[in-house]
Amino acid sequence: MIYDAVIAGGGTAGLYFALQLGKRGFKTLVLEKDPPDRVSRRLDIIHLPYSLYERFGIEAPKEGDGEFGKEFLYSRSRSAIDTYEKVNSNHVYAVHLPAFNARLANLARDAGAEIIYGARYKRLIRECSEIKGIVYEKDGAEYEAFGKLIADASGISSAVRRDIDSPYMETFEIGPLDQFYVMLKYVIYDDPANETLEPVSWPYYKTWIGPFHGKSGGIIGCGASTSFDYCKYMMEKFEGRIPRPSYKVDHFEYGSTPYTRTPYSFVADNFMALGDSAGLTNPMSGEGIEYHFEFIKETLDAVCKALEDNDTSVEKLWPVNVIYNRSVNAANQEIRASVVCLMKMNERENEYIFKKGIIFRSDDEPEPNTVKELIKGVLSGDFSLKALTDTASGLIKAGKIRRHYEKFPGSPVGYAAWAKKADELWQKAGKITDMDRPLEVSGS
Ligand SMILES: Cc1cc2nc3c(=O)[nH]c(=O)nc-3n(C[C@H](O)[C@H](O)[C@H](O)COP(=O)(O)OP(=O)(O)OC[C@H]3O[C@@H](n4cnc5c(N)ncnc54)[C@H](O)[C@@H]3O)c2cc1C
Repeated sequence: MIYDAVIAGGGTAGLYFALQLGKRGFKTLVLEKDPPDRVSRRLDIIHLPYSLYERFGIEAPKEGDGEFGKEFLYSRSRSAIDTYEKVNSNHVYAVHLPAFNARLANLARDAGAEIIYGARYKRLIRECSEIKGIVYEKDGAEYEAFGKLIADASGISSAVRRDIDSPYMETFEIGPLDQFYVMLKYVIYDDPANETLEPVSWPYYKTWIGPFHGKSGGIIGCGASTSFDYCKYMMEKFEGRIPRPSYKVDHFEYGSTPYTRTPYSFVADNFMALGDSAGLTNPMSGEGIEYHFEFIKETLDAVCKALEDNDTSVEKLWPVNVIYNRSVNAANQEIRASVVCLMKMNERENEYIFKKGIIFRSDDEPEPNTVKELIKGVLSGDFSLKALTDTASGLIKAGKIRRHYEKFPGSPVGYAAWAKKADELWQKAGKITDMDRPLEVSGS
């Protein structure tokens, strides 16, 4: 049997792709290396915007079902030494990821997808160098699965993408310095009155607190580039500067998400990369699910057209790149590039931008004249000239990246020259990890 699509990886990206293809009548096979009771167990609570459900055609969870954790209407963010708070309306669900993933699997199956658990991608099947399918291992034996389109949804490991041999597919590893490390400390407060009821974040430390669902405690979370050690260091700095009420640690969770640019092309002959394996995460926070779903939704018509026409060549799949890179991804990659300069600010500068509503602004605050306020900050000594010039030059470089993505070539012809120029622009913009200890807390 030849499937329309064979997808390696049964996380949120692979299952949502299978669900959408199934709804359009395509025959899809998902190969997941873990057994069903272990898939997505690496994390428990994740946050998904309320709008995600309606936008992507999935029923929202309800209080009392296994997936629902909590619902929030606002997000609060606070400045480096806790002086200023910004409040933004932000309707978000905290949900249990394993239950969300299990529901997606049921929906995909109902739409006709087959899912084989305990099936690990081993290698590609090629005929005359053309990709035809996947060899997978299950219970110690090897099996073959054939598909018109092979999709990599294997997460950070990017198991299939790294085996592709095509001038249109980058095979880079999402290495240790290309990840955003997240540490979640689940704590029980000594005084139950201190229970965390709603999420609050401190962007300066990339740290936040949130409820511990059902227990009189909270989750203290921290994310950092570079390493878990650096993440731990930042959490200690945060708790040293902004102490939490006394608590006992219940348990820790650790995980990482891609924190790297997306591959320039998401497609090659008979191949497509999705989800974390394609670096499709929020450029500020590393959260991925909304970004995976958006990519799939935006590009689905182009994929379905190629499958219907029985032609999944790179030329036929190219609209996937054009649609996504010229619009959503141009904006996302601009943000990704600008994060580098934002991270260079020190504690005092962070306080100043909070005070003036630059970048961080409550819904009811008027938009400031950023340039004027930054110059005033330099004159008052609240903002260094270096930070001002770094920020300005970083934002200019990031803007050039956006404009370059907006001019993504309309066909594979021209891709090599476009990619060469993109390499140069990314080189100039730099990476967060180019800065050693980018958020060193001054004066402590
Ligand atoms: C601590 C933490 C908190 C997060 N919080 C949020 C949040 O609040 N909101 C949000 O949107 N995102 C959040 N994220 C990010 C989000 O979890 C990921 O972006 C998303 O789960 C990735 O989905 P995926 O399907 O691409 O990859 P994964 O979920 O990694 O799925 C890949 C699947 O492929 C399987 N696989 C791997 N190799 C093979 C192989 N060789 N053969 C077959 N199968 C294979 C794996 O077993 C896995 O099931 C968080 C991440 C972390 C680490």
